[in-house]
Amino acid sequence: MKIPLAKPNIKKTDIDRVVRILESGMIVQGEEVSRLENNFIIFSGSKSSAAVANGTASLHLALIALGIGPGDEVIVPAFSYIATANVVELVGAKPVFVDILPGKYTIDPAQIEKALTSKTKAIIPVHEFGLPCEMDEIMEIAENKNLFVIEDAACALGSFYKGMHVGTFGDFGSFSLHPRKAITSGEGGILISNKIEKIQKIKVLRNHGISLDGKSFEEFGFNYRLTDIQAALVNGQFERIEENLNAKKKIAEAYQNHLRASNIKLPEVSKYMLHSWQSFHILFLSTLERDRVRECLLKVGIQTNYGAQCMPFMKKFKDKYKLNSKKLFPEALKAFQNGLVLPMFEEMTKEQLDYTIHQINIIVND
Ligand SMILES: *Cc1c(COP(=O)(O)O)cnc(C)c1O
Repeated sequence: MKIPLAKPNIKKTDIDRVVRILESGMIVQGEEVSRLENNFIIFSGSKSSAAVANGTASLHLALIALGIGPGDEVIVPAFSYIATANVVELVGAKPVFVDILPGKYTIDPAQIEKALTSKTKAIIPVHEFGLPCEMDEIMEIAENKNLFVIEDAACALGSFYKGMHVGTFGDFGSFSLHPRKAITSGEGGILISNKIEKIQKIKVLRNHGISLDGKSFEEFGFNYRLTDIQAALVNGQFERIEENLNAKKKIAEAYQNHLRASNIKLPEVSKYMLHSWQSFHILFLSTLERDRVRECLLKVGIQTNYGAQCMPFMKKFKDKYKLNSKKLFPEALKAFQNGLVLPMFEEMTKEQLDYTIHQINIIVND
C-alpha cells in the first residue's frame, strides 16, 4: 500500500471547466475569478475579497496596502511556514517573533503583549494547520494599541472561531490555494476584508496599479493576478467544500480516537473552535524518535512530512537577528524539530486510514 501525505481532489468536471475557459479565449481576469471571490465572500461571511497569484502575494499585498514598511515592526509567531516572515522582510519592516502556545501551534497572546514596542504596527496571527488562533485576546491587544491585524489563514479555509470564519476578525484574512491546502488552483491566493476600500486597493495593487475604472495608474503596482484558468479549476472544488471538510474531520477523529502512544502528543482543539484539519500534526518527545518513526513509516509506504518552521531558527533569519530560539521560542523549536504531519486527504479510504493508524501504533510503541 502506498499512502501519500496529501492529494488534491480534482474531478473530471473541474478539468472540463478549465477546458471551457481555455476554449473561450478569456483566460486571465474573467467571470471565474469574480465567482471565486464571491464564493469566498459567501462562505466566510466577509464583505469583500480579491483573488491574487498565491498566498504569499496576498500577505505581501496586505502589508503594502496597510502602508507597512521600513522602521515598522510586525509581530509574527515563531512557528509558521517561512512565507509569513519573508513578506515582512520584503516590505522592509522587521518581523518580531513570538512563541506559540504550549500544546497548540498558534501564537501566544500573552507573549504578544511583551513584544510590543512603539514601532509595532501590525500582528500576523497564523491559523496553523487550520487551528484557529485565540482571536479575542489578539483583537483586544490590537484594538488597545491601534495595530493592524492580518490573519494568515493560508491553511484555514473552513476554520471557525466562536462561530465566525477565521480571516474575518482582522483588517485582512489571507488564504492560499496551493495543492497542500483544502482546495487548489495550482497556485493561488485570496484576501478577504470587511473593509471594502481595503480590498479595492488590493485590486489596484495586484494589477499594475491601474485604477478600478481603468483610467489611470494610481499606485506602483504588481502583476499578482490570478488567471481565470486557475479560478475555474478551484471553483468546482469550492462547490464540494463541505464534503471535503467533513471527510477530513472524520479522518482526524479516527486519528484522535485510535492512535495509541503515551509518547506522542495529539492536537488539542478548544470547544469554541472548529478545526479545518489542513494538516494533522503530532509531536514526539525527541527529534530522534520523530525521524525514526518517519523513516519506518516510509518503509511501509506511508508518506509523512515536517509541519512548519521555527522561522527565527532558519538560516537567513538566524544570521540577521541572532536570536537564541531554544531560549526564546522553546515551543516553536519543539514543534519544528519534533513535529510530524500524517496523511490526510479527502479521498483517503477507510482501508488506507486503518492501515496508517495500525502501522503508526506498531512503530511508535516499538
Ligand atoms: C502555504 C502557506 C503560505 C503561502 O502560501 P502560498 O500560496 O504557497 O504562497 C503562507 N502562510 C502559511 C501559514 C502557509 O501555510
